[in-house]
Amino acid sequence: MHTIPSIIDPEHVDPPVENRAGLDEHRRLRRDEFWRVIPAYAEVSAAEFGDHKWQQRHTVSNVHQLRATVGGIAREEFFKDIEDGISSAPMALRISPYLLSLIDWENPAADPIRAQFLPLRSGQQPDHPMLRYDSLNEREDSPVPGLTHRYPDKALFLPQPSCPVYCRFCTRSYAVGNDTEMIEKMKLGASAGRWDEAFRYIESQPQLEDIVISGGDTYNLKAGHIEAIGRRLLGMPNIRRIRYATKGLCVLPQKIATDPAWTDALTRVVELGRKLHKDVVVHTHFNHPNEITGATEDALGIFTERGIHVRCQTVLQRGVNDSAEVMSLLVRRLSYINVHPYYVYVHDMVPGVEDLRTPLHAAQSLERHVRGVTAGFNTPFFVLDAPGGGGKRDVHSPDWYNRATGVSVFTAPGVKAGRKFLFFDPIQSLGEEARWRWSQPLERRAMIDEALNA
Ligand SMILES: *Cc1c(COP(=O)(O)O)cnc(C)c1O
Ligand code: SF4
Repeated sequence: MHTIPSIIDPEHVDPPVENRAGLDEHRRLRRDEFWRVIPAYAEVSAAEFGDHKWQQRHTVSNVHQLRATVGGIAREEFFKDIEDGISSAPMALRISPYLLSLIDWENPAADPIRAQFLPLRSGQQPDHPMLRYDSLNEREDSPVPGLTHRYPDKALFLPQPSCPVYCRFCTRSYAVGNDTEMIEKMKLGASAGRWDEAFRYIESQPQLEDIVISGGDTYNLKAGHIEAIGRRLLGMPNIRRIRYATKGLCVLPQKIATDPAWTDALTRVVELGRKLHKDVVVHTHFNHPNEITGATEDALGIFTERGIHVRCQTVLQRGVNDSAEVMSLLVRRLSYINVHPYYVYVHDMVPGVEDLRTPLHAAQSLERHVRGVTAGFNTPFFVLDAPGGGGKRDVHSPDWYNRATGVSVFTAPGVKAGRKFLFFDPIQSLGEEARWRWSQPLERRAMIDEALNA
């Protein structure tokens, strides 16, 4: 009898993947009453905490409220640090009790959710000298206020300027949120006249097929507006695809179950789209696996039953999700609850949040780690939205990149042919010599010229 020769040495075979420790971490979603550690929420029942109206009523939007909520468990220096941080932040404070409770209050300074919503003066870094408001030049590409038309067949519609939460790093800090000490915002009211102007423009452009209804946040649109915007757009012969963008699933997933008027309005638009053979989807925004709980799973369960597809756009942030472990867990956890990871964006060059930016090479390296972790269709594209209006580019595709000076050059022949777009790594990520060069105006010019002439 012959044994079959094996090229596999049984002594050196990896155990089947499902037996490896930690691989089911993405399925372990919190369902405990985690909010009860917050002094102000200690007596709040699961039913109350799970009601979107209760969440909205208790939204924290200034340091006074923050102190009144977590005063017993966070130190006074922490509140002072936030107060100072807010005075030089581009975004106003707003956070839901749900997200606030998911912060690790034993060590809030290091917490990835704290880092995104509560600015600390002690963590701030000076802005890169090449950085400015509206870094993506959205206003330049706006034929109508609140409508950005940069790509041939798709456009971005901003119906109103508020969100259920304010992210420190918001790219649209020029328009989104309340005025802050740093910026007076462009005023994009939810007025029927402005909307109508946008709709008439969209109708007049036969090449437009795809509209992103973005933020502000569509969670903050009334049910009737969700439906009216959807019906108006789907009624245009040129429009084939619409996307409702909302951070809400991350901030207040409870709303999907407890605000049936809103959820039903969205469902009717999705159903109308299906009848018309058009595509209606939801785009959302999760950045860290801790933001996904049993409440998120329940909300996405309702969407899945109703055939509502959800895609996620993540922002890469230093200290939040810039490790292979965290990003891989996020991708698996999103996939598990039927959210398709669509994009991971390199953090835009927006003011006041330099501490959150990563260099381009961090995104390139992360992409290599994440690809292969799960299904290809659940693997996000890592992109950089080129400053100056070049649009989204694959992070692996700079035409030129000097890692020492942190300058990269992108071209976008399909969007703005013949132009070069420069991106700048954060100065704190560079070596000593480059950090010195960036402090010298002549050296600065030389580094930029080197990139442009390359
Ligand atoms: C991101 C974006 C879109 C949508 O782009 P996709 O890559 O199709 O998701 C449309 N318009 C503008 C101005 C954008 O920034
Ligand atoms: S939810 Fe989106 S639009 Fe609103 S503040 Fe956050 S990043 Fe900006």
